[in-house]
Amino acid sequence: MAISSAVEVEDLIKARYPLVYIVSSEEARVEEALRQIALRRERVLAAWSITRGFVKLQGEFRGGDVRDPIKALDHIAGIEGKGLFVLRDFHAYVDNPTVVRKLRDLAHDLKKSQKNVLLLSPVLKIPPELEKEVAIIDWDLPDRGEIDGIVGRLLQELPVGVEPGPAADPQGRERIVEAALGLTYVEAENVLAKSIVRNKTFHVQTILSEKKHIIRKSGILEYYEAQESLDEIGGLETLKLWLQKRRGAFTSKARDFGLPLPKGILLIGVPGCGKSLTAKAVGAAWQMPLLRLDVGKIFGGLVGASEENIRKALKTAEAIAPAVLWLDEMEKGFSGTGSSNMSDGGTTSRVFGTFVTWMQEKTSPVFVIATANDVRALPPELMRKGRFDEIFFVDLPSREERKTIVEIHLKKKRRDPATIDLGKVVDATPEFSGAELEQVVVSALYDAFDAGGDVSTEGVLASAREIVPLAVTMKEGIDNMREWAKTRARPASVTQDKSAGKDRFSIGIEPSRKLEV
Ligand code: ATP
Repeated sequence: MAISSAVEVEDLIKARYPLVYIVSSEEARVEEALRQIALRRERVLAAWSITRGFVKLQGEFRGGDVRDPIKALDHIAGIEGKGLFVLRDFHAYVDNPTVVRKLRDLAHDLKKSQKNVLLLSPVLKIPPELEKEVAIIDWDLPDRGEIDGIVGRLLQELPVGVEPGPAADPQGRERIVEAALGLTYVEAENVLAKSIVRNKTFHVQTILSEKKHIIRKSGILEYYEAQESLDEIGGLETLKLWLQKRRGAFTSKARDFGLPLPKGILLIGVPGCGKSLTAKAVGAAWQMPLLRLDVGKIFGGLVGASEENIRKALKTAEAIAPAVLWLDEMEKGFSGTGSSNMSDGGTTSRVFGTFVTWMQEKTSPVFVIATANDVRALPPELMRKGRFDEIFFVDLPSREERKTIVEIHLKKKRRDPATIDLGKVVDATPEFSGAELEQVVVSALYDAFDAGGDVSTEGVLASAREIVPLAVTMKEGIDNMREWAKTRARPASVTQDKSAGKDRFSIGIEPSRKLEV
């Protein structure tokens, strides 16, 4: 169980950390939690802002009309007694060298006192001179208990003509709460209220689709409801078996049994061979929501925005947990973390650092699936032991796998695979990826529709002849990737035969003996 932000802040206060930087856009909610801490620890709590100066939030305090940020710091330094002082949106003033120096002086002086300064802002901005002095806390999004509190309050105030619906029984109420996880307090309140207004009851689907919308608006995350199933993936048996074995790994039964929480997997391989499909299917197979993080989009352009993006995304995943976090096309964001120090002021390295530290230390049930097509672009630190549970290499499908993939796609289009000579199709499609095999089936269907008939072996073969597989054009890249994977990754498939490509070699790992898939 992860430690809540409120507990973390209280520990820092007890440990006399003079400067704490709290990153959150939920000012009222954070200040309420701080008020509780102030009450418990018998401290004064006051909040400063440029528009109002100091305002008292708890206990006896006379702040006066001190609006100037430098004078506000002087004022805190001069106050006698025990206190917590929130500085709202102080990130806006840390470009001023006098402010920075004053904060450093304060950090030094407050260590001897029972006063703490809490910088509260939705934006994380710390000048390098202060990095060592400040403890940073990314404030949690509301947990189940808080969201349940909102549901409870709304239930008490239901207008005439509105039914509690699913909220009337504990399981239904749990589903409503779950649907709103990952939102801020105000967002959750709005979404729940909207569901009531629109449907005259609590409506899980409305809450979920509103949440999807809000999460997408944040720019880099996308929320998927479980759709695909592991059965829709042709081949990749070793990978599927690995995933199936960990199906119950997030339950308390697994913890009691002594199993560690799975961290995640890295899927590397040839484009179009099922990496994304696997990420989507895991969400469904484990009945967990799936969050897709577009790594390329983390780098927003504004200074500091990239770091906030990743921190915010990780916080959202933790709030929704248990959840699957899918980092798509990882190399697009994290390539060249070393060299980029020169070109982007180290932003890429810092974002990458935030991610790997989180991976290493995370205690929340967030399972990471990272996918990448170009291994050479990935920072080597990512492969270090302890980051991922396993690195899988997803190669072009073997003969057997191609057969299954074609079968799957024919069935998806409601065609009986028995009507097609799959042996011939498989012979005609060496080096085809799963995506290309799907394309073969789909374009054969188009041709058949146009000709007024139905899909046939000849039609499928004809459409296969029209495709030049990517593996042919990017042969060198794929060969390099296989060479790399030989010693560093585990093959996702059991059967590695030579028919997939003329020079395809076995990856050299013992196939698993007894598959239960
Ligand atoms: P990229 O790196 O280009 O995103 P990818 O490895 O993630 O590629 P997917 O996006 O999973 O590939 O594949 C694209 C589509 O091709 C899938 O949605 C699916 O329809 C089909 N496909 C790929 N591999 C398989 C497979 N093993 N079984 C069934 N269908 C597959």
